[in-house]
Amino acid sequence: MSSNKSKVAIIGTGFVGASAAFAMSLSQITSELVLIDVFKDKAEGEAMDINHGLSFLGQMSVYAGDYSDCKDCDVIVVTAGANRKPGETRIDLAKKNVAIAKEITANIMKHYTKGVILVVANPVDVMTYMIQKWSGLPEGKVFGSGTVLDSVRFRHLISSKLDVDVKNVHGYIIGEHGDSQLPAWSATHIAGVKMDDYCEEGKISITDEDKAAIMEDVRKAGAEIIKKKNATYYGIAVTINAIVESLLKNQKTIRTVSTVINNKFGINDVALSLPAILTSDGVRSLIDLPLTDKEIADLQNSANALKIILDEVKDI
Ligand code: NAD
Repeated sequence: MSSNKSKVAIIGTGFVGASAAFAMSLSQITSELVLIDVFKDKAEGEAMDINHGLSFLGQMSVYAGDYSDCKDCDVIVVTAGANRKPGETRIDLAKKNVAIAKEITANIMKHYTKGVILVVANPVDVMTYMIQKWSGLPEGKVFGSGTVLDSVRFRHLISSKLDVDVKNVHGYIIGEHGDSQLPAWSATHIAGVKMDDYCEEGKISITDEDKAAIMEDVRKAGAEIIKKKNATYYGIAVTINAIVESLLKNQKTIRTVSTVINNKFGINDVALSLPAILTSDGVRSLIDLPLTDKEIADLQNSANALKIILDEVKDI
């Protein structure tokens, strides 16, 4: 059993929510896990299924509940929301999921006593912004999974290209969790050495085309998986588990979560991803990356792309 008493709620037990619950049962990260879904049968079925496996894993309380169970949660994970259907625009999806998020936020806040809200449903930056505003909670207490998974994919591709352990690759995808995201190449290091210097010293060829290809692979990874198997859930499930672990254990891990940004790189009043220190209270602070002028301009473009969607949904 997880050594410390902790309580996590997952709202939305579809592919992502159920896989995250399963990941948490494997890691035994929390002593209590409540599953909430508009289709109660789905949440109950997932809880039963996970409970049967728990005999091999450890003691943990996993059950289907309702919003009153958000009381006393350390972390509330929001994965409820539809995926984009063929022919549907990003704005259509945003409108649909933001409407769901409004109802969910009101329900959470009726019973909220403490804890952080981790938003995963897409478009995650827009959902994070709206849920933070509607909840009235401090900005650091509501944040999104943002580009955490994109950053892991980025590091993985660099590690393959340079043939070095991914644990020694530090690099971040910042901005939108979506098309306008960008790699912070200027802050990409291998064992403390700037990536370009590392490649030069090691006589490793990495051209601008190679970098563009890495970025394109990161950007398209989600869509590529959806094309092959209709949804993505294992990668994000493990990502959610890792973020929850950082929070519950107060690990002060730095991750590119999505938070409401003000007075950073000339960007205000929008949620997007930058490296942030995570404590049990949520986002403690953001890391000031030494971005180039071009990277700052690209980050500002990413913020502007998000603001266009926010303008469409803010009156929902
Ligand atoms: P899904 O359709 O399998 O599951 C969604 C679940 O939400 C369903 O069980 C549904 O009943 C539930 N739900 C809908 N409305 C609800 C409400 N009002 N209250 C409670 N529950 C409600 O979808 P999925 O594949 O699990 O994806 C969920 C979301 O996660 C999507 O928005 C998807 O785009 C997003 N996602 C995000 C990332 C990321 O990196 N941020 C990665 C993968 C998926």
